[in-house]
Amino acid sequence: MSSKPSFSFLILFIFSVLPLIFCISTNAPPPPTVCIVGSGIGGSSVAHFLRHYFHPTPTQPNPPIIKIFERRSIVGGRMGTVSIGGETFEAGASILHPKNYHALNYTKLLGLKIKPPPSSEDDDSMSFGIWDGKKFVFKTLQVDSKFPLVQKIVSFVNSFCLFFRYGFSLLKMNSFVERTVDSFLKYYESPETRPVFETVDEMLKWAGLYNLTTRTLQDELIDIKLSPLLIEELITVITRINYGQSVYISGLAGTVSLAGSEGGLWSIEGGNWQMAAGLINGSDVSLHLNEKIQSISYLGEYYELNSTKGNSYSCDVTVVATPLDEVNIQFTPSISIPERKLQHTHATFVRGLLNPAYFGLKAVAEIPELVGTLEDPDLPFSSISVLKQHDEKDATYKIFSREPMADALLDSIFSARLHTIRINWGAYPHYEAPEVFAPFILDSQHLYYVNACENAASTMETSAVAAENVARLILSRYFSEGSMDSSHLKSFSPAADTSHLDL
Ligand SMILES: Cc1cc2nc3c(=O)[nH]c(=O)nc-3n(C[C@H](O)[C@H](O)[C@H](O)COP(=O)(O)OP(=O)(O)OC[C@H]3O[C@@H](n4cnc5c(N)ncnc54)[C@H](O)[C@@H]3O)c2cc1C
Repeated sequence: MSSKPSFSFLILFIFSVLPLIFCISTNAPPPPTVCIVGSGIGGSSVAHFLRHYFHPTPTQPNPPIIKIFERRSIVGGRMGTVSIGGETFEAGASILHPKNYHALNYTKLLGLKIKPPPSSEDDDSMSFGIWDGKKFVFKTLQVDSKFPLVQKIVSFVNSFCLFFRYGFSLLKMNSFVERTVDSFLKYYESPETRPVFETVDEMLKWAGLYNLTTRTLQDELIDIKLSPLLIEELITVITRINYGQSVYISGLAGTVSLAGSEGGLWSIEGGNWQMAAGLINGSDVSLHLNEKIQSISYLGEYYELNSTKGNSYSCDVTVVATPLDEVNIQFTPSISIPERKLQHTHATFVRGLLNPAYFGLKAVAEIPELVGTLEDPDLPFSSISVLKQHDEKDATYKIFSREPMADALLDSIFSARLHTIRINWGAYPHYEAPEVFAPFILDSQHLYYVNACENAASTMETSAVAAENVARLILSRYFSEGSMDSSHLKSFSPAADTSHLDL
């Protein structure tokens, strides 16, 4: 007997199965629409993780439609570049840590190229000094040599100088930072063992990081007996550079800021904003640029989003992926979140040459490539760093300050100034321990807030981690049974707690 089915059997089979397929497809609910406000690393990561974790099921066979709304003409948010004198530099978020695993995965997935950040942000051979407004209280050795051996010796001597000034406190500081980084690594555990968190508090408690948000960095460091000189100088310099704030910021934000001064830091060739652009391109998203959302209203079964252009969108799920502190979105019904101030950081880019006389020095070469400052209200800037030395008399610098840098001030700091670009960033939260967190779920329905997490620490990676959790929350709450493999969805229960922009 032939093993091939007969032609008439095939016809019979097709006609009996077709109506079934048709029936299933007409009974299936239409794909829900997830609307995301904001195209930074947070919003783009939500889209990416929704696609990554979604699995079709009989009740929800269709993946969601994803729409992203961005008020600007470009994606990336606080990841943006600036062009000065024909060269491009990071204007906002510039450095990534070697253990920022989501960012590393994005880089691989999107075929982006890693590069070390420019000059002083992560280079042992770069000179560094701490300026108190009158003098350098600390300065590393400065030897301009292209020979690796000489660079190694200089680096060794500089490590010795640091050790001589701050002693074993430096080692204690490193192990404190490493312990915190290790706790953070729990957020990369397999989704099978990692719960989905409804609140930031739960998320932090699960990794053992919550207590660090209840006290200041200074209190944490005094507890581990760090030398007051190290806290007053080097650690203050780092928190001022990374968060524009003093050692009174909360312990977790402070420790994240210290991790941002470790070795092996990196960024993306051509700009970190490409992570957001690549994730959006690869996630089948309909992107609405120049579309500023001004109101989000819950109308019973869906949300209506209205833009300043008069457009209106119906969404089954809405994700806010921007800090709500300085954007004026009207919510109906109103939502309640703790008041939070943003720290403004003024980033000023100058192509020109520093004036050695301002620093009481004779030659430009004597000025460290990274100048950090102490906590003194009279100091007009937090840091000045060389982004690129074009030649002896021409460099590009980045200045961070809490107030705008007036022309007269810049004219005293620089002997030559060819181009100047100023950006006022509503940069990150003004950290105040004990931190109080907004919820990830802003109503009891399907309105989510990625940036609730920024009170813990504001970085590209923490936004990606929060976004992953929000994507899993949406899949577990809206798509309920099994659109995500339900074995992946353990909800956290406290009882079980054992512990491209060109600006
Ligand atoms: C100067 C500076 C330096 C920094 N340095 C670092 C660093 O070195 N390393 C690091 O990891 N992090 C750094 N950060 C922090 C980092 O940039 C942020 O934590 C991260 O980029 C936040 O991403 P996000 O997507 O959550 O928010 P954002 O990047 O702010 O994205 C929000 C988006 O929403 C859009 N939007 C807002 N309102 C609306 C609306 N009504 N309708 C439509 N769209 C809207 C905005 O235009 C924006 O594009 C730095 C930040 C600044 C400002």
